[in-house]
Amino acid sequence: MTVFAAFDHDEIIDYLKKQVKDGKVFTDEDTLKKHSFSPNVTSEQSGLASAFIEAHSTEDVKGVLKAARKFHIPVITQDQFTSTVVGADGITNSFIISTAKMNKIKEISKADSVAVVEPGVINGDLDKEARKQGMFYAPDPGSRPMSGIGGNAATNAGGMSTVKYGATRDNVLGLKVVLADGRELKLGGRTLKQTFSYDLTHLFVGSEGTLGIITEITVKLMPIPLGTPLMGIAFFEDMGTLAKAVADIRISGVYPTMLEALDAKTIAAIDKLDGTNYSANGGSMLIFQTGCQHKSSRRFVK
Ligand SMILES: Cc1cc2nc3c(=O)[nH]c(=O)nc-3n(C[C@H](O)[C@H](O)[C@H](O)COP(=O)(O)OP(=O)(O)OC[C@H]3O[C@@H](n4cnc5c(N)ncnc54)[C@H](O)[C@@H]3O)c2cc1C
Repeated sequence: MTVFAAFDHDEIIDYLKKQVKDGKVFTDEDTLKKHSFSPNVTSEQSGLASAFIEAHSTEDVKGVLKAARKFHIPVITQDQFTSTVVGADGITNSFIISTAKMNKIKEISKADSVAVVEPGVINGDLDKEARKQGMFYAPDPGSRPMSGIGGNAATNAGGMSTVKYGATRDNVLGLKVVLADGRELKLGGRTLKQTFSYDLTHLFVGSEGTLGIITEITVKLMPIPLGTPLMGIAFFEDMGTLAKAVADIRISGVYPTMLEALDAKTIAAIDKLDGTNYSANGGSMLIFQTGCQHKSSRRFVK
């Protein structure tokens, strides 16, 4: 005999609230609207969630998933909600679980050149803290001042320095994740050399919250290079000539630490926004940074 159970909205929310011991559960319309629909993009796929949960601990994450399992509620994970591809938007009657307030830098180890962070740590804040100790965090999406390391890991975010240091995937060494069934997994570690077994860590990187909820990330930190980097912009006739120049630069022995190519439409948009006149210089623009100049490195030469 099949037994059907029906629960009303209040019963579900009451149960959910009991599972969230450290964080907060919001069901007011303003909060739900704010977190269900991205300000960066509009999509018909998005819908109003029934609860927004601000998780403060891994136990909260497990609790939300327990409630979701019990009532068969879809779960969307959200970090700082800067996504431009609706991956963090709500769907109708879902739970949105936010890891934005799980934002502690747990450790910065100079000796091991790693940082261990909670997902809500802002990319730029981690970089700033690392720099106080002579290191830096390389992945630099344009959203660096406002996106979280958890969101960066879930989207494999990259930026201008990807050409030299790789995207987020290349800088994640280990993860803690909670699966939909509530199990917590510890993946990878804190060493550069991780040579055996399946690379589940990097399966989760870029998985946009579809495989589990990231609750801790161990990332590489790099030593700040000596000297002063050279940064500039160069203009080309079109994207074709720019691409040829980039290929030449990359095999020239000058190792760029940043490259970003902008086409004519993007340059025109910048001109319109900032009142510049870059378009007058050519149909494409390359922002570049090369490694450090030798002059400052001389402090080590006696
Ligand atoms: C001005 C601006 C510039 C940008 N520039 C870049 C850029 O240069 N490069 C780039 O790659 N992107 C860029 N983006 C897009 C966006 O910032 C990145 O995708 C960023 O990594 C998202 O981080 P977030 O903390 O905002 O995550 P959210 O937007 O909250 O979530 C993004 C995705 O990750 C999932 N997710 C979030 N947290 C977790 C978690 N704890 N566990 C599992 N899954 C999770 C979500 O479900 C969603 O699918 C930009 C966005 C803006 C607004």
